[in-house]
Amino acid sequence: MITSYHNHTTWSDGATPIAGQIEGARQAGLDELGISDHYVFNPHGVTTWSMPLDKMADYVADVQQAMAQTTSPVIRLGIEADYFPETIDELRRRLALYPFDYVIGSVHYVDGFPIDEHRRFWDALTPEERVEKWRDYWKRIRELAESRVFDFVAHLDLFKKFGHRPTLDLSAEAHAALDAIATADMAIEINTAGWNLPVKEAYPTLNLLRAARERAIPLLINADAHHPKNLTRDFDRARALAREAGYTQLVRYEMRQRFPIPL
Ligand SMILES: [Zn+2]
Ligand SMILES: [Zn+2]
Repeated sequence: MITSYHNHTTWSDGATPIAGQIEGARQAGLDELGISDHYVFNPHGVTTWSMPLDKMADYVADVQQAMAQTTSPVIRLGIEADYFPETIDELRRRLALYPFDYVIGSVHYVDGFPIDEHRRFWDALTPEERVEKWRDYWKRIRELAESRVFDFVAHLDLFKKFGHRPTLDLSAEAHAALDAIATADMAIEINTAGWNLPVKEAYPTLNLLRAARERAIPLLINADAHHPKNLTRDFDRARALAREAGYTQLVRYEMRQRFPIPL
């Protein structure tokens, strides 16, 4: 059984409407296609690549219409929502209004600093400031888990996107975040997009994946596809990585319930 749950459409920064992703999913032989457009409830300003914040109902209705019209693949209603301490309570209220199959939790910003928007933001920092950002990032992931608003965490070590990697050992911070994810009974994903970005490595690293496996944190394999041709990009490679980390199964979701599937 093949699922792909982290995918974008023109509701946020994807290249095609939902129908285009469904067609791509058929061609890729997916059993389940999840749509998970961005919802970035950003207290520091408007994020252009998010769906408009007052359009969650319309987005849900559009995915539900696709679900009703499609027998194969099965369509799942997801959303990729950002964690911000300032807006998490209102986000929780808004998400509770709709029957999501799963909610993906992301940290794309740390106090207004854009983690993955452009390398120039990282280039402009001193080494000390970068360390501070990496620490703050892991703190936000921990808080994301503690909020209990989300089902799984997206691209766990997103900060490496442009090739900037921690210059000192931050495994204590990372492991504290993983402990919080395990305590919250959340899952993580192997996000294959990283292999095609400057870092040329999937999110997360093998070391983090092993640490997640040691904590029995469930796993999904996702492509973060913004185009139908990428819906299962590098999935074979991701399965090999998952096995290397000790995983023997993956999970799928339905109405925010998690079920194991073979790896
Ligand atoms: Zn993301
Ligand atoms: Zn995404």
